[in-house]
Amino acid sequence: MIVLSGPAGSGKDTVVQHLIDEHPEIEVSVSLTSRDKRPGEREGVNYYYVSTEEFQRRIAAGEVLEYTNYCGNYYGTPKSEIDRRIEQGIDVVLIIEVEGAANIKRLYPDSKLVFVRPPSFEELERRLRGRKTESEEKIKERLERALEEMEYACDYDFVIINDKVEECAQELYQIIREPK
Ligand code: 5GP
Repeated sequence: MIVLSGPAGSGKDTVVQHLIDEHPEIEVSVSLTSRDKRPGEREGVNYYYVSTEEFQRRIAAGEVLEYTNYCGNYYGTPKSEIDRRIEQGIDVVLIIEVEGAANIKRLYPDSKLVFVRPPSFEELERRLRGRKTESEEKIKERLERALEEMEYACDYDFVIINDKVEECAQELYQIIREPK
């Protein structure tokens, strides 16, 4: 299991997309979320979108491996995304925030934790604003959270800087293939 974290705007999703385009044997866990779907996102591809009530029901039913509340919404890893792949020995990447990453490490000490950093805070702000999908208030909230999250980088097994997507994806691939 490979756990990838990084602040919103670090480009972690783009890096993983690049990785699986090049190495389709690696799979990505699709999370459950109670946040609204952004334009261009697809059910079952980016997330499984559910109501807050449905999310809570799944937690109570023991169907969620780890979850967190991020900027007012629930996000969690469905057990079904992980169990089958572990059984079959498939490398699976989880793109989750720092609390979830720590929980996965506790549950699966062999997992590799990778933190993606943007080249600079200015670049991160530029990327977040460039998305044009969030209100100013949400952008500020995410920028604040990004600063907090950056402090967790030292708890990770690996830190990579997303300056060029191709190089960052290649670095990630080497980490995945590296024996523990
Ligand atoms: P976004 O709303 O930008 O898609 O995601 C917000 C944050 O939630 C990101 O840091 C993302 O990695 C994280 N996230 C997505 N899915 C999960 C999950 O299943 N568990 C946890 N703990 N965090 C998640």
